[in-house]
Amino acid sequence: MASQDSESNEVSQVGGRRLIMVSNRLPVSLERLDDDQWRTHPAAGGLVSALDPVMRQRGGVWVGWPGVADETTETLRDVLDRQYNATSDYRLEPVALTGDDIADFYEGFSNEVIWPLFHNRFTVCRFEPDYWQAYQRVNREFAHRISEVAHTGDFVWVHDYHLVNVADELRALGVDNRASFFQHIPFPTADIFCNLPWWREIVHALLSYDFIGLQTVADRTNFLDVLTMMFDRVETEAGDRGIDISIGDEGLVRHQQQLRIGTLPISIDYDHIAEVAASEESVACVERFREGWGDRTVVVGVDRLDYTKGLPEKFEAFRELLTRYPELRSHITLQQHVVPSRQQVPQYIEQKEEIERLVGEINGEFTQPGWVPIHYIFHRMDQPELMAHYQVADIALVTPLKDGMNLVAKEFCAAKRDGNGVLILSEFAGSAAELGEHALLVNPHDVVSTAERIHDACRMPVEERRQRMQAMREIISAHNAFDWVEEFLRAAGANQ
Ligand code: UDP
Repeated sequence: MASQDSESNEVSQVGGRRLIMVSNRLPVSLERLDDDQWRTHPAAGGLVSALDPVMRQRGGVWVGWPGVADETTETLRDVLDRQYNATSDYRLEPVALTGDDIADFYEGFSNEVIWPLFHNRFTVCRFEPDYWQAYQRVNREFAHRISEVAHTGDFVWVHDYHLVNVADELRALGVDNRASFFQHIPFPTADIFCNLPWWREIVHALLSYDFIGLQTVADRTNFLDVLTMMFDRVETEAGDRGIDISIGDEGLVRHQQQLRIGTLPISIDYDHIAEVAASEESVACVERFREGWGDRTVVVGVDRLDYTKGLPEKFEAFRELLTRYPELRSHITLQQHVVPSRQQVPQYIEQKEEIERLVGEINGEFTQPGWVPIHYIFHRMDQPELMAHYQVADIALVTPLKDGMNLVAKEFCAAKRDGNGVLILSEFAGSAAELGEHALLVNPHDVVSTAERIHDACRMPVEERRQRMQAMREIISAHNAFDWVEEFLRAAGANQ
């Protein structure tokens, strides 16, 4: 472990411990240009914008991969030192990954094993032993980097499913700093989870954290069920900051016998979204789009290309709507934005083919002169354009088969400045726990009911739309991304 310098007090002057933030990707990506110069690309997004201020305030180090493979740690560190760390309030510390690491650790174990399994899709998992080896190796590498930069008293916060083993590897290196973990994706039920050949190792690894944050009560219950199945004596006690768990079994060498778990639904930077939505650039887009749509009802969908997002089911529901209610034809349009994602993973290539075939089929069935039922666009938008699409839409159709939270649902509400819009939301999205009372909830597998809910949304009186939207906007603004960070740090004991 690094020695402690005079600047890095155990508990910093501005309150709370110095932070070691750990995520698969750093908040900055590096790109090597042809002339051996380097370009840095700052990552946008709610998570980074919420974590950045607390990192600035407390100081510390953010450990992660800077997005470029087959470079040495020394090269990456040198570039980050020159182009970022020299002028920043906190350091970025790179983890170097090879092309093989990306293939086996990231695309392999993370995205072809944990991701589908934790989203209830265990039949598409590829339980390759090599993937598991790579996962362990890369997690160990992350732990090494952390051990080099952590000082006594620093608080380690590890993000997400790529890095479950980090605390366990830290303990093996003799690093005993408080370490906590936030899982951004769902935690599956015990019978699904146990399909993983290495499920016991994963549970043991999780027990090396002092605190684990999960998105919903359902995720927390599932995790507790797994613990109860694995250990004979698991005692729980509810406290204000989560549930304290004591595991009575002997032989938990290197692992905590006590840990705390908390339910901490992640949120968005509400004010920033509202500000972007009100910006000149976004408002200009709104005007242009409105002109294009005329008086049609616009249903918007914004999803990353992913088999968890329920895109085929959404298109089937829209087909059902047009079949059941022919009078809606030419008066309603589904504008579906699909964001490119994980295009090296075979299931994603297949998913793209399937949705494009289905869109073609439905458009082929219903298109009339001057009207195409589904506008499908495969692209990534910047924030002003995205916020404009949210604002123009009458209805947002957010129907994942399983989703840790789904920020699109929250962003739609935050961007809807006129308060006149309906959110149709999958009951299997984490956000349904907070917004379910005011959104129209659907089971995305039930295409008939989903079609009926779209129909209900079309006919909903404006007064009711406004009331429901207002209630959701209040819930989200009262618990934004900054509150989430503070709640996590408080619950995890980072302020003590
Ligand atoms: N997003 C974006 N550009 C786009 C479409 C989406 O930046 O063209 C962002 C969107 O604002 C949201 C995120 O992608 O913050 C998607 O998050 P969500 O939780 O809905 O799903 P995920 O992709 O994380 O599974």
